[in-house]
Amino acid sequence: MAGYSKETARLWMAMDIGPLWIGRDEDDPLSPQSIAKDSTAKEITTAPKSVAEQNSTHSDAFKPASTLNKTPPHEHSVLTSPESHKPKTFELKPIRRSFAEPGIVEVDSELLTRAQNADWKTLQTLVSQCTACKALSQSRLSTVFGTAEKTAKMVIVGEAPGRDEDLQGKPFVGKSGELLENILRSLGLRRGADVAIINVLKCRPPNNRDPHDNEIAACATFLTRQLELLDPKVIVLSGRIASHALLKTEMSTGRLRGQTHHIEVNGKPIPTVVTYHPSYLLRSPTEKICAWRDFNLAKKLLLELS
Ligand code: SF4
Repeated sequence: MAGYSKETARLWMAMDIGPLWIGRDEDDPLSPQSIAKDSTAKEITTAPKSVAEQNSTHSDAFKPASTLNKTPPHEHSVLTSPESHKPKTFELKPIRRSFAEPGIVEVDSELLTRAQNADWKTLQTLVSQCTACKALSQSRLSTVFGTAEKTAKMVIVGEAPGRDEDLQGKPFVGKSGELLENILRSLGLRRGADVAIINVLKCRPPNNRDPHDNEIAACATFLTRQLELLDPKVIVLSGRIASHALLKTEMSTGRLRGQTHHIEVNGKPIPTVVTYHPSYLLRSPTEKICAWRDFNLAKKLLLELS
């Protein structure tokens, strides 16, 4: 650790990284040069898809209510350079997850209509009353609405509650929550006050299986309204499910991270960073360095916009 200050060492320890993750031939990820390099946006282009593929069932599930029907379903304002902040559109790949065991979903359209204009508290009540996803609503112990304070300028979107979250009714608790809090603390960010944490799904899928597309679509109104109410300056998508759902792509997290995307919220393109889910980081600790860089990029964007 020679050459590192006490504060730097503390940050590394908080991230549970330590000297193990400093490769001899690797740049110091904490140096301003490395952070600047990380924040350099790379543009991704995807092959044009057929009309049938573009008309994917849930193609606009996450468009804010205010923007629905304004943008063709196969276009999305993502992937812009941080310098220009000018959205470009690109052809999207449809999501093709397995429908081998489709979840039974019966949407209550009246409840969803109310959700579209609800305030935060009312929205939380509506979520707690929602039984659209039959399997999830029957097996859940609680709905997990999210952690947020009015002052939060960054929003982290995760996947769905796990066992601990379902038990406690809070997102990102247990081991992965601890890791996420360490990451945030090491960046000087407070959970709740600086960073709101919400999930794509508000109910735990049985046995922690992946959410089905129709469940994600059923819960999209709640997520969209949460984003509208939080009106974040920066969004972090934590893991594959969140990035696939909100960026409408099937690209891997490894390909999506390390650049600035944009998601439209309240008619504005919000800078968005993709990173690995903390539970994946617990299984693959060598990827923690990537998450560290992703959160540094998110914080840099936040500082630029504050
Ligand atoms: Fe309702 Fe969302 Fe829970 Fe499904 S996951 S039952 S849509 S709150």
